[in-house]
Amino acid sequence: MNFKNTREFAQQLDAEDQLAAYKDEFIFPVLNGRKAIYFTGNSLGLQPKRAQSYINEIMNDWGALAVEGHFKAEKAWWDYHERLAAPLAKVVGAKIEEVTVMNTLTVNLHLLMVSFYRPTKNRFKIICEEKAFPSDQYMLASQVKFHGFDPSEAIVEVKKREGEHAWHTEDIIKKIEEVGDELALVLIGGVNYYNGQVFDIEAITKAGKKAGAFVGWDLAHAAGNVKLELNKWNVDFAAWCSYKYMNSGPGNASGVYVNEQYLNRKDIPRFEGWWGNEKETRFLMEPEFKPMPNAEAWQISNAPVMAMAPYLASLSLFDEIKMDDLIEKSKVLTAYLEFILNAIDDELGAANTFEIITPQDRGCQLSVFLHGQGKDLFDYLMKNGVITDWREPNVIRLAPTPFYNSFEEMYEFGQILKRGILHLH
Ligand SMILES: *Cc1c(COP(=O)(O)O)cnc(C)c1O
Repeated sequence: MNFKNTREFAQQLDAEDQLAAYKDEFIFPVLNGRKAIYFTGNSLGLQPKRAQSYINEIMNDWGALAVEGHFKAEKAWWDYHERLAAPLAKVVGAKIEEVTVMNTLTVNLHLLMVSFYRPTKNRFKIICEEKAFPSDQYMLASQVKFHGFDPSEAIVEVKKREGEHAWHTEDIIKKIEEVGDELALVLIGGVNYYNGQVFDIEAITKAGKKAGAFVGWDLAHAAGNVKLELNKWNVDFAAWCSYKYMNSGPGNASGVYVNEQYLNRKDIPRFEGWWGNEKETRFLMEPEFKPMPNAEAWQISNAPVMAMAPYLASLSLFDEIKMDDLIEKSKVLTAYLEFILNAIDDELGAANTFEIITPQDRGCQLSVFLHGQGKDLFDYLMKNGVITDWREPNVIRLAPTPFYNSFEEMYEFGQILKRGILHLH
């Protein structure tokens, strides 16, 4: 598409946008009396207006029905979480029985590693990306130590090439082949939180499984952002948080995927609790555990319904828009932001001071490396109504989300950015 860096052109794109009305479904923060330009949906998605009524429903049922709410509420609490599986399965490309919602992300990855990281003397290594999200690094190292291995030996990080900002799929596959029959697990963030790169989940999963390892994915920055086909790609397991692109609220419940081939299996160990027990006998309180025939077998405690309510609200929006339509808008919106950034860079000429480090394999996030101004520019943007996110040493992350960001905001942001750079120069 031939973009133009003008307000009229941006407004025209908004007028043609089939999803434009959805921004009215969200509540925007206000800075200096004006609706903020919100670029941090990759960190905490905005609140869907309908979330409030979903929470109120539980508060009202709790008040009116008290303990009876477990079974008599219209959305009964004892199986409340089951309502999330069908819409969520569509978002991640899974079968309904492969998906459930429970706990929070790092907790779930630990629980999944109980099943899918069972190192032996010869096969104990884990491949991940270098500088993985810190929580993932802590998780992997503590799991390795728990099993009596040394993280410096067991954890193999795939590095970026010297001077480059993104990973090459072939380097990851080469590393998988190199580690070979010592490889127990591949666990990578599907979309890198720092540079916004989308990994080739299908090819990497295939290579990992060929080497005889389990392959799991942390989809924190992928769920609700990029096209996922977890079942088709034969991914073993995955988990994601719901408060980033999935707009479910701060610190909220995490989605889990377990490939259908591991359901109903006695040879896959797991940490268990009563909510993983089959529904028919759950409240008979019998001594023997009878697992649910689906991913719910990994459930442990009774569902925190208060947290699930806004997730269910948000999923009702995802169910109205199809992921494919959301992604289609996302691609144009991000391409337009990229165009605006490059146009501003050109206009500034000698003063140009930034570089997009996100590769073309991307979702909606663009990470911009600032060569000059650094944190002052980030502060300037915030003071001028733009909420972005700062990562050391010098990166601003911009995530225009197709649900609630407009094309005109991309134009507006470009103007503020240009003024900021000239002001600080
Ligand atoms: C945001 C994020 C997390 C957060 O984990 P929580 O357990 O929800 O706090 C973990 N991993 C990645 C890759 C993330 O981006």
